Amino acid sequence: MPEPSPLIKSLRAAVEAAPDDVPLRLHLAELLLGLGEGHEAISHAAAALQREPGNLEAQALMARAVAPPAAPAAPPPAPPTPEPPSAAPPSGQAYDWQRAEDELSGIVPPRFVDDHDCPAARAGDTPEPPHTAQDGAPGPDDTGGLWDVEHATLTLADVGGMDEVKQRLEAAFLAPLRNPDLRRLYGKSLRGGLLMYGPPGCGKTFIARAVAGELGARFMSVSISDVLDMWMGNSERNLRRLFETARRHAPCVLFLDELDALGAKRSQIRHTGMRTTVNQLLTELDGIGAADDGVFVLAATNHPWDVDTALRRPGRLDRMLLVVPPDRPAREAVLRHHLKDRPVAGIDLAALAKRTEGFSGADIEHLCESAAEQALMDSVRTGEARMIGMADFAAVIGRIRPSTGPWFASARNVAQFADEGGAYGELLAYLKKRRML
Ligand code: ADP
Ligand code: MG
Repeated sequence: MPEPSPLIKSLRAAVEAAPDDVPLRLHLAELLLGLGEGHEAISHAAAALQREPGNLEAQALMARAVAPPAAPAAPPPAPPTPEPPSAAPPSGQAYDWQRAEDELSGIVPPRFVDDHDCPAARAGDTPEPPHTAQDGAPGPDDTGGLWDVEHATLTLADVGGMDEVKQRLEAAFLAPLRNPDLRRLYGKSLRGGLLMYGPPGCGKTFIARAVAGELGARFMSVSISDVLDMWMGNSERNLRRLFETARRHAPCVLFLDELDALGAKRSQIRHTGMRTTVNQLLTELDGIGAADDGVFVLAATNHPWDVDTALRRPGRLDRMLLVVPPDRPAREAVLRHHLKDRPVAGIDLAALAKRTEGFSGADIEHLCESAAEQALMDSVRTGEARMIGMADFAAVIGRIRPSTGPWFASARNVAQFADEGGAYGELLAYLKKRRML
């Protein structure tokens, strides 16, 4: 490939510095296309369309860039040919399907057959929350290098469907926190945190992150098994540090995942010093309510029946919230989310949502991946790139079984025979409603 001209070089740098400047990008794309740099032109046109989907200039440019070559002098990406490398595009590389898929993502309307503008629809366009965005001024041993403090950008509006869960969150957790007067009035009863439970992959972590966003708080997500340490005293020290870090970053939602790892039942097998670790956590939890220091504790578990009962006493993690597989609007949101960066055409989200009853969020992600794979393999076979369509979903959907079945099987037994004074009322009601009992 020839050395790029100084103009191209400086334009590239300018676009990198101002990625949202659409006219600038289109200018660069136009020049690149003229030089036969089809791949790069497409990626800039796609980036421009992502920012301004209705931009006519960008649409026209994209159409030209992806069109078959008009003259041999300006070869845009060509479909793969069975011929030897000498016949490949001048870049000397075979056609890169992954790259083409990336480049074509988000540009070929209509992507979904029924694109109504509901909150769930918008959810799909929300950028992924920054995964490990470190806090602004991390001190040297700010988090001991162990815990990430995120700036949560997700809100409950990004959580598709699940109205019941949202209402309960609002009533039990958010409303009092948002309203200082209420908080003062009911101060004492607001101590303690909320324990989410339910089958894996159904959005507990997702919701916790959205709660942090709702509160404008930072977000720390920690798995209890990462806190545990086989050496005497280390687990307690880790917990102390964890809560210290949360306090230092207040307001902060501290999300304790896999709380059952501290379970009394498991402890006998794995850890002898577990009792002191549980006690340390109790001390920390009790300390939080007293100081009103802007740390909100949310915890989650797939196995609430294994959670140490001391942790669920009043003033601690005493409120339980059942998070079940996504309902239909939620499934639509999850589908949209996982398809938003893929080249899709004519996807009927409502129909897919209807056919994925019982699927967890994670199952839906797997479904979308399988459909993409199906389309890709087909494209390779026929030598013609095409979008992911409903036929691809139809081809794979029968092979994917919802993974939540086993969880409900064990949950049913517990809810029926070991309800612990009504702790699982919500679960029982759900099972009854779904005729699973
Ligand atoms: P859990 O913590 O319960 O095991 P996660 O929070 O990790 O499950 O959820 C699995 C995936 O499903 C996440 O990547 C999330 O994007 C998606 N998801 C689950 N529920 C929803 C929802 N209601 N709206 C949008 N995405 C969801
Ligand atoms: Mg989780």
